[in-house]
Amino acid sequence: RLKAISAVNNTTSTSKPLNFIEEKPTELFGCNVFNDKVMQEHLPKAVYKSLKRTIENGEQMDPSIADAVASAMKEWALSRGATHYTHVFYPLTGLTAEKHDSFLEPDGRGGAIAQFSGSTLIQGEPDASSFPNGGLRTTFEARGYTAWDLTNPAYLLENDNGVFLCIPTAFVAWTGEALDKKTPLLRSNQAVHTQASRLLKLLGHNNFDRIQNYAGVEQEYFLVDRNFYFARPDLYLSGRTLFGAKPAKGQEQDDHYFGTIPKRVLAFMIEAERELYKLGVPVKTRHNEVAPGQYEIAPMFENSNLANDHNQMIMSVMKSVAKRYGMACLMHEKPFAGINGSGKHLNYSIGNGQFGSLFDPGETPHENAQFLLFCAAMIRAVHKHGELLRCSVACASNDHRLGANEAPPAIMSIYLGQQLAEIFEQIKKGDVATSKAKGILRVGVDTLPPLPMDAGDRNRTSPFAFTGNRFEFRAVGSSQSIAGAQLVLNTMLSDSLKYISDRLEALMTSENCELNDAVTKVIQEIVKKHGNAVFNGDGYSEEWAKEAEERGLANLRTTPEALPALNSESSVTLFEEFGVLSKRELDSRTSIFFEQYINTIQTEIELAIKMARTSILPAAVRYQTELAKNCLNMKELGLGCIQGPLTKLTENLNGLESAADELEAMLAKGHSDEQEHARFLCNEVLPVMLELREYADKLEDVVADDLWPLPTYQEMLFIK
Ligand code: ADP
Ligand code: MG
Repeated sequence: RLKAISAVNNTTSTSKPLNFIEEKPTELFGCNVFNDKVMQEHLPKAVYKSLKRTIENGEQMDPSIADAVASAMKEWALSRGATHYTHVFYPLTGLTAEKHDSFLEPDGRGGAIAQFSGSTLIQGEPDASSFPNGGLRTTFEARGYTAWDLTNPAYLLENDNGVFLCIPTAFVAWTGEALDKKTPLLRSNQAVHTQASRLLKLLGHNNFDRIQNYAGVEQEYFLVDRNFYFARPDLYLSGRTLFGAKPAKGQEQDDHYFGTIPKRVLAFMIEAERELYKLGVPVKTRHNEVAPGQYEIAPMFENSNLANDHNQMIMSVMKSVAKRYGMACLMHEKPFAGINGSGKHLNYSIGNGQFGSLFDPGETPHENAQFLLFCAAMIRAVHKHGELLRCSVACASNDHRLGANEAPPAIMSIYLGQQLAEIFEQIKKGDVATSKAKGILRVGVDTLPPLPMDAGDRNRTSPFAFTGNRFEFRAVGSSQSIAGAQLVLNTMLSDSLKYISDRLEALMTSENCELNDAVTKVIQEIVKKHGNAVFNGDGYSEEWAKEAEERGLANLRTTPEALPALNSESSVTLFEEFGVLSKRELDSRTSIFFEQYINTIQTEIELAIKMARTSILPAAVRYQTELAKNCLNMKELGLGCIQGPLTKLTENLNGLESAADELEAMLAKGHSDEQEHARFLCNEVLPVMLELREYADKLEDVVADDLWPLPTYQEMLFIK
């Protein structure tokens, strides 16, 4: 540990400053992407037009153009020094997977030629049979295919050892079942487009472009020096510290938040941004976060499929660039106890170039009516499918944030801000029939007060907050793929949009309502039935937990409690209705996520026992011996000895030993049912692991500093 501290001072960084005069931003941005401009340059005109149509309208690709596209892509990649190509996909581990193949193939005459056909571009077979599939594939039928997702551009990844062409793909079983995160996201894009379009047509719009769903992803992370990182097996194996006493200085003084970025960190950020610019990731914002050693990076929002790819790229680029600066980039939700954890705020909206965001209030009464309908759809969605939304962000590491004493709570509610909440309240109270007489708001007729509200009155304690022209979902964990949450949002919103269209049609035909009255009525019905999900108060307070219970809102604090919502009857009905996930796919996902939870917790427990026994206990015993010898000597000399530290140390040492024994005994107990086993780990074993940690952390406060083996919190957080 002491060597690690002195090694920190020897770290040098090699950043080349970012300079938009020498390096034109327009030449840098997207220079490694096979984007629209490159395609236009490299493809025959007819092929380019056909491909573009496919991309823009989400149509099937004309197979006859595949070879031409592949050949252009190959020429471009080779001219840029690429040697290999890879189908990149997102298996259910939440990580990014790739398998490299060389462009070179033997020509049969002792030489080699560069090959890349249309069929290799469109489809690959990675034989990735070891990825979790939750029963969707047995090994004898282990075929999984990667299929080119042409809506996202291919790109070149460069590193010190070469350049390779990356092709974004979906990963499916030979039966067509989704084995990845991208496929159901693409299906949900279709659902939300279909349902939003139907409602917009009812509202009188014709001829508009495809409705997109957007994601703006704020990524939080920690940086620690690599010398410390490798001296902490818990950090490099489980992503978080399993031990560590509270440092004398924490985040109480808030002096880190938006503070000046330390020099080495800034150099790292600049280089990571340069790499991301090249890949066409529109990185926009960087700043210090609340906790010491914590930072945030945020690109501009994009359509969700691209934003998902880009977020995965951000995570891998940041990890690899951090290494060059002697640091480790931690994406775990809670690397350090006692200070803030990391989330990934997901800013969500739907719309297109013509409409802008459909969650944007607009200026005319007509636009406002439309806005209120889409908002009402969201209120209903959160109320009806709150458990599913909670479930979409459930994993072992995110449990340290949600439902723990930290933001945001595990109760899914929706924050509208005072002004908008009042409007809905008024609509709820208003009697449509007499509304004119009483001067009560009639949606779509009266002009609403100007919206949006001041962005400053945003409530930071809400998991799902309206922020002027979008909703910000704050419960996503920093290490998670955004695909899960985005596809749940898309699907539950589709369900509400469909409900609204059905209801509007019914009111207008059978009850002869005018459109405006029908709209008012539907919103009113929704607020009456689902308004319980709206909450503008302090989401962290005890009172809210109580009130939420009275309102009938679920508070699923842990992953084992939250996950069953994924394949509950109502979820299966919902996902199947919109063609996003089948029951088999949902069952397999539920099982995989339980398995992942169990694996994570078990690894942590085994590691905690091992570290307690092989590094903490020996250090404490050495110091105990030293103190004991000293006591004996002092007594021999007839002088009193200081017994306090020895007694305290011995107590905690015994406690540590017995907690480790207890944990070991518990680990030996298995349950054949995975859900039951997960609950056992969560409710019975984790508390004992915390007890073990308490003893260890007390020992850290007693044992002589030079004997303590693990880098401490203050070292990891404050030495930069
Ligand atoms: P804050 O930290 O105040 O929430 P940031 O500027 O860090 O705000 O991040 C806001 C994110 O929301 C950015 O990624 C931004 O591009 C995104 N965003 C802005 N407008 C929309 C929208 N209509 N739909 C989705 N995301 C949006
Ligand atoms: Mg935010």
